[in-house]
Formats: sequence, structure tokens, C-alpha cells
Amino acid sequence: PVDRAPEIQEARLKLPILAEEQSIMEAINENPVVVICGETGSGKTTQVPQFLYEAGYTSSTGAIGITEPRRVAAVSMSQRVAKEMNLSRRVVSYQIRYEGNVTDETQIKFMTDGVLLKEIQKDFLLSKYKVVIIDEAHERSMYTDILIGLLSRIVPLREKKGLPLKLIIMSATLRVEDFTENKRLFSAVPPVIQVDARQFPVTIHFNKKTPLDDYSGECFRKVCKIHRMLPSGGILVFLTGQAEVHSLCRRLRKAFPFQKNNTAGDDDKEESVEEIRKFKKSRKRKKAMTLPKIDLDNYSVIPVDEGDEDRDAETDDDVAGSDLDLDLGDADSEEDSSLPLYVLPLYSLLAPEKQAKVFRPPPPGTRLCVVATNVAETSLTIPGIKYVVDCGKVKKRFYDKITGVSSFRVTWTSQASANQRAGRAGRTEPGHCYRLYSSAVFMDFEQFSAPEITKRPVEDLILQMKALNIEKVKCKIDFVLRHSLKCLSIGTRNKHKFEQQTAKLSCPISPLGRVMATFPVAPRYAKMLALSRQHDCLPYTITIVSAMTVRELFEEYDRPAVSEEETAKLKGKKARLLQMQRIWAGQGLLQKLGDLMVMLGAVGACEYAGCTPKFCEENGLRYKAMLEIRRLRGQLTTAVNSVCSDAGLYIDPKMKPPTEAQATYLRQIVLAGLGDHVARRVQAEELLDDKWKNAYKTALLDEPVFIHPSSILFKQLPEFVVYQEIVETTKLYMKGVSAVEPE
Ligand code: ADP
Ligand code: MG
Repeated sequence: PVDRAPEIQEARLKLPILAEEQSIMEAINENPVVVICGETGSGKTTQVPQFLYEAGYTSSTGAIGITEPRRVAAVSMSQRVAKEMNLSRRVVSYQIRYEGNVTDETQIKFMTDGVLLKEIQKDFLLSKYKVVIIDEAHERSMYTDILIGLLSRIVPLREKKGLPLKLIIMSATLRVEDFTENKRLFSAVPPVIQVDARQFPVTIHFNKKTPLDDYSGECFRKVCKIHRMLPSGGILVFLTGQAEVHSLCRRLRKAFPFQKNNTAGDDDKEESVEEIRKFKKSRKRKKAMTLPKIDLDNYSVIPVDEGDEDRDAETDDDVAGSDLDLDLGDADSEEDSSLPLYVLPLYSLLAPEKQAKVFRPPPPGTRLCVVATNVAETSLTIPGIKYVVDCGKVKKRFYDKITGVSSFRVTWTSQASANQRAGRAGRTEPGHCYRLYSSAVFMDFEQFSAPEITKRPVEDLILQMKALNIEKVKCKIDFVLRHSLKCLSIGTRNKHKFEQQTAKLSCPISPLGRVMATFPVAPRYAKMLALSRQHDCLPYTITIVSAMTVRELFEEYDRPAVSEEETAKLKGKKARLLQMQRIWAGQGLLQKLGDLMVMLGAVGACEYAGCTPKFCEENGLRYKAMLEIRRLRGQLTTAVNSVCSDAGLYIDPKMKPPTEAQATYLRQIVLAGLGDHVARRVQAEELLDDKWKNAYKTALLDEPVFIHPSSILFKQLPEFVVYQEIVETTKLYMKGVSAVEPE
């Protein structure tokens, strides 16, 4: 029996999924595989695990596992469910890549999909689970797709053993035929339960023109307009990345300042907020009367360009618009007198306690405005949102399969995603979605985003899949992978690529490969670890590999500042970081390790100081990254110890820099792992074209590549270098660079 707080119980009863509890539980009891579809916010993620728990699915014989494609969701949902059920986090827990709070008592476990995949590697039958829920299946993340493929084989195997496993696939869209109608996946069509969400109508407003590039500025203007003119209700803005989110938050906070002491909670102050509001209302009334009135009863379902739908409003809008633009010209520098706007950022890497803020009601007398990346599209439902501002873009990682170059690019999202975003405005009452692009542009969006598996390099996956081929389980894993790749996404269109990929599967896994697969890092890093036994190099390789895996150790100070004061502050911090990096880079031979030595030095110094937020703040290190590195070092150290029982490794918080001999050896190890990532400086006589100035040639690309300005070797330009990765921004840049010498 679950003992829930009355207010929690009341909120639960309002969720559409509660009405379906019985039919969901019946379907699960009678079928091995069940698909549940329901709009974002209908209660799938928070409630289905509770239904199962109450129906006794966790009683001593196994746990409930729920996978999420995003870390944010795994952490925040486990906390929410623990709270709703009034259970300890020892019982409702989470596990994400390097972090978690799972205990022996854990009965409901939220995890990222990658974590469950690793668990399959250790125990193919997943015997500790009685139910596995694959959440957000509509996102078609690569690991989720693979998991569904593997689980389609595991479920019958468990059935045969007499220990049935229930599989539940949850999706925010009805587009689930890929899972249900694929006879190769599930021979019997699994039942699909549809949760009727109480979705209120959302009026879609398209921009007449699509801004060429400054969609952030356009977002700013739109939020200002909404806040000044439209009735109360939260605003949710979709942008593409963390930097954009922060910069818009800063601009908005500046334009509509919000003083914490306004909300101390005592009645006096609240009253005064109310008074200010009234005062402002009267002051603004004259202006407001010339502004468009949005008729909330007039909802459109068919997309129309903003203005077309409401001609009267349009003319007014234009007048008011130009008026407003003048206002906005100085909105950045001058405080606005409107109601305070309570601005919160939301993105994946944000600290959990800051993420949790979006779920709490905003302080009285303020309007909530959440500026988010894609995480708010389906994984997290923010209460009280009435207005959505959608820039229409999404930041995606692109991989070049041949060269391995990865770059983040901002592209238009899909129609399906744009509609999901719009839906966020209609959870609690009718809402409005402002799309900062025209309906013509929208019609050109692809209908759905392509499944990730069709776009990512598959080496790491193939290695993991191969490692699954453990003797105990008589299961043709090659077949399973081939099968899941095939049926889940890679259509005949990509037949050639598919065959190339699966060809790699037919050779057996080597002993080195088997050791490598046990490390929770990409194969090239695993190889470096597997080669580091000599000269006591393992602690260094573990540290370098952890740092390279976590990436982005240093604070980014090259961001637009909002004031001169801030510009000066950022400049000072940047200078300090550069100075520290030069110290961390060391002397003599160590210097040749380049950025890798900087990473090693930074981690060493930070650990020496006890890895405190203060140390990180003062020295330009990202505290969150340092914590992740610490966890990964611990995990890798344990992994190495378990593979070579005589290694006896431990983490020394006072790790000394490597000796010169060790440095030489480390460079060989790095070269072995990054062997295909070698670049040679273009020689003077080869300098035909100016674009090759200071450039490097790589084996894989015809284009010039450069050492990234953030690299310690940026000015030195060694003749040969190895790099961790190439990223494409204005040019192709190598990051994580160290120097090598020809033998
Ligand atoms: P779904 O998985 O169907 O998208 P969820 O189960 O995530 O739906 O959400 C159900 C409801 O629970 C939503 O209204 C959401 O706002 C609320 N909710 C989720 N997490 C929290 C939280 N940490 N605090 C308060 N409310 C939350
Ligand atoms: Mg959910």
C-alpha cells in the first residue's frame, strides 16, 4: 500500500492516465508486450511505474526498470516518483552514465537507455527485472531502438525459462507502427493503449517573415510582447543550446527585473506587488487599448500565418509593433516597468536542483518564463504554460561516417517536433504558440525526424553488441543486431551502408576487444586503457580518458556580455584560465602532450584542492565536468581492477605529474588510440592558397583543418599532431591536440 500526501493524490487524479489504470494493468497482465501512447503530460512516466508497484510487480522477485533517452528525465522523474509515492530514494532510484543512487533496496529504477544496454551485456536475460519500460520511444534514440530490438528476443527467452519479463513501450505520439506492425520484431501484434489526454486547443501563430538568422533576438522581442500585452500564464521558449538559453535569460532578466525580496512571502510585500500591478495596469491601459486583443474562443486548428487569421489584430499589431520595437531598442539597457518576469533556464546539463525549479509555482506577482532547449519538448512537462515561443530550430550532432568528423549544426526541426512544442501550451487551459517562421517554411520541414540510428557511427555499438556474445547465452547476437538495425530503421534505401556495417559483425571478437568492451567508454579510449599496463601509466590514461570522454572541462568565456562591466570580468577570467592552462601544461617533454597534459594537470590540481566549487570557479574549470571526471575515474579504476586482478589501482588525490619516460609512453598510447587522427602541418612550399595558412592536412579530409584557438598548441604549430576530435564551426578545428614526432 502506498501512502501518498493528499495534495499529491489530488494532482494525480487529474491526470488522464489515471482513468486508464485498469485497462493498462489488464493489458499488462495478459500480454508480454504492451504499447502505451499518450500526449506529453498525460502521466505516463510518473504513473505507470506506480501502477505496476501497486499491482505487486516488485514483490521480492525483481525490480521495475524504466529507460529514458535523456539524463535530465531519468534524474528528475525518479525524484518525482519517490516523492509522489512517499518512498525513499533508496527504493525509487536512478542511474545515469556515471552517477546514481541505486541501492539493494531499489525497486523502481530510472536510467538512461545506454545504462540498460550495458546491463544486458552483463546479464543478457536482465534477470533482476520483472518489468522493463522503454519510455519516449517516439524519440527514436539509437539506444532505445537497439533496446527494443534486443528485448524483443529477451522476452520470449524469459518466457521459456518460466520467469516472464514484461515489456512496456511508451510513446508520446501515435506513430508506433514501426514497433507494433513489424512481424520480425514481435510475432504477435502487441496491444496499443491510447490515453486520451485532455489537450486544450492551441492557436498557432506563424510569423509572416522568417528571420534570417537572429532567431534569439526574435524570441526576445516576442516574449517581451507577450509579457506586456497578454493575460497571465507561463511562457515557454524553445531555443537550441545552452549558450543561447543563458543569453536570452540574461536579456529578459535585465528587461524585466525580478527582485527576490519582493517574494519573501510576507503579506505586506505581496500586497504591494498587487498594488504595483494595478498601478501599472492603469498606466498601461491607454496603450493596451490600441493593442491586439486575442480572442481566446477563436482557436484555429489549421495553421495560418499570424495576422491572416485575425486581420484587425494585424493592423493594430503592426502599429503597436513599431511602437514596441522602439521600446525594445532600449529594453536591454533600461528596466521595464511591467510585472516582474520570473525567468528560468532549462537544459540537460543544468544542475538538478536548478532544473527542479521549473516545477514549482513562480513567486506571487510574477509571470513564469522558462527558456529551454529540446528537453522541454516531451521529456519534462512544465506546469502552467500558456504561451509557447518556438524558434523552429534544433541543434543536432552530425557525423560524417567516413571521416568521423562531428559537428553541431542548427537546423530546422520536424513538423512532428514543432507540433509537440506547440502542444506544451495547451496542458492546463487553451494556449497560444508563436512560431518564429512562416507557414511556408513549416510546410518544408520534414514530417518526422529520422531515427538516430540511421545517422550515427556504429563502431561503439558494434563492439558492445559483439561483447554480448557470451557463451552462457545461446543466442545469435549478430542476428539480433542485424535484425534490430534492419527492422527498426535502416530501410532498403541504405542497404549498402547497412551491409558495410554488419560485415564487421561476422568476425569473432578478439581478446583485446573483449577487455575493451568491459570499459564504459568509446572503443578508441578503451584501447588506450587496454594498452596502458606498462610503466605504471594506467592512472594517467584513466584520467586522460575520463577527461576526453566528459569533454568541455573549461568554462567558456567567449560569450557576448550584456555590460561593459561584464565584458571586463569575462576578460579577466579568461586571462586567468589561460595562465592556469600554461601552468598545467608542464615543462619539457610533458609539454608535447599538449592539451592532454593540460587536462591531466587540471584534473590533478582540482583533485589536490579537494574538487571544490570554489577552486573550479576561481580557475575556470566546469565544476560539473570535474565531478563527472571524478566519477568516471572511479568507475574506470574499478573496471580495470576487475579485469586485471593484480593491478591494485586506487585513486590518488595527490597524483604526481608523469615522469618524462611515462610521458613518452603516454604519447605512444594516445597515438595507438587516435591513430587515424593524425595531422601534418602544411609545409611552406605547399602553401598555394591562403586558406592553407597555419593549416594541417589529415588523412581523411581534403579540407584544411586548424588547431582550435583554445588549444595550448595553438601558437606552437607542431609539425605532427594527433587530435581527439574535429569540430566544425567557422572552420574545421582540431580539439584535444598533442604533438607527435615521426619515428
Ligand atoms: P508524460 O510522461 O505522459 O509526459 P509525466 O508523467 O512526465 O507525463 O507528467 C505528469 C504530470 O506530472 C505533469 O503534469 C507534470 O507537470 C507533473 N510533474 C512531473 N514532474 C514533476 C515535478 N518534479 N514536480 C511537479 N510536477 C511534476
Ligand atoms: Mg514522459
